Amino acid sequence: MPPFVIPIFIIHQGCPHTCIFCNQQGITGHTSREGNELTSASVRKIINEQLGWSRKRKTVVQVAFYGGSFTGLPKDRQEEFLGAVKPYIESGLVDAIRLSTRPDYIDLSTALFLRKAGVETVELGIQSMDPAVLQASVRGHTATHVKAAFTALKEAGLKIGAQLMVGLPGEKTKKLIQGTQEIIRMAPDFARVYPALVMKGSGLETLYRSGKYLPLTLNRAVGLAARLKVLFDDASIPVIRLGLQPSLSLEKECVAGPYHPAFGELVLSRILFKKVRKILSTIPKGKKHRLCVAAADQSVFRGSENKNLKRLQALGLMDNVELVFGQDQPRQTINIVNVQKHRICTRSGLTA
Ligand code: SF4
Repeated sequence: MPPFVIPIFIIHQGCPHTCIFCNQQGITGHTSREGNELTSASVRKIINEQLGWSRKRKTVVQVAFYGGSFTGLPKDRQEEFLGAVKPYIESGLVDAIRLSTRPDYIDLSTALFLRKAGVETVELGIQSMDPAVLQASVRGHTATHVKAAFTALKEAGLKIGAQLMVGLPGEKTKKLIQGTQEIIRMAPDFARVYPALVMKGSGLETLYRSGKYLPLTLNRAVGLAARLKVLFDDASIPVIRLGLQPSLSLEKECVAGPYHPAFGELVLSRILFKKVRKILSTIPKGKKHRLCVAAADQSVFRGSENKNLKRLQALGLMDNVELVFGQDQPRQTINIVNVQKHRICTRSGLTA
């Protein structure tokens, strides 16, 4: 069961930068004023309010500081916030703290401080490993900072989340794949993949309006995110989020780009379609087969408006194939059964 996360937004706090795509307020629906006014008392209030929900769920409870660069905050603010959560960890009401920050705001002493203060996971806003993309996105850090941050966090025994973006200015697919492979070699504990969106008031909006930046189409963004997801899957690194959390404020503030409220489903659907197409094209024609897909994956498999299924049918790949959705079948697995021989001839997870 996924953890119950109590988010506390420190919008744009601790960050003197202005990344070209950044509009934290629009993305999260929370204001920088809220972050500014946050105190240990308000942290406790948020936790107390949310804990009632978590008790009903009986799952791991985590407090998460999102929306800014936590380790860029003055040390006394960091201590204040982490200190406010500590009693909940000591009493067992909260299991751990997670936070997000920039790669260049982590060194060994910071990592050790976080660990001692009860932090378990640090999510690094990496976005890209390509120097040209980092520069064009005005990130203000380099790929070397990312490597140093991984080393420090691992040495301190912290879990690492890698946040990546597709579709940033100057991105080349080959470099995107190479950069992702580089990140995989550093072995993060999990990853998140987001498409770059043109948010109101961001530098990207200026570029876009002057015709100097063309956002990815939804189709292309889904395809790239699917490629990254498959790379992470192959390395057994969970991708815990594909696409930004949909919200009214995000929809209102997004000027252009591949926004879709079910972006993650589209990505999973693309991966599943390709996988099934590949497997079905290898089975002997004329023999009856049964294609078994997890019932929980039914909508992902069918795709919007049954598009995936129709494409498989149009390719002739569903001829002599009976489609079954298995209630007990694990998600993201596919079984092909030779009906005459009553034998599973192909069993597969999602990744090819
Ligand atoms: S580092 Fe994060 S908070 Fe700071 S400008 Fe960039 S995206 Fe926004």
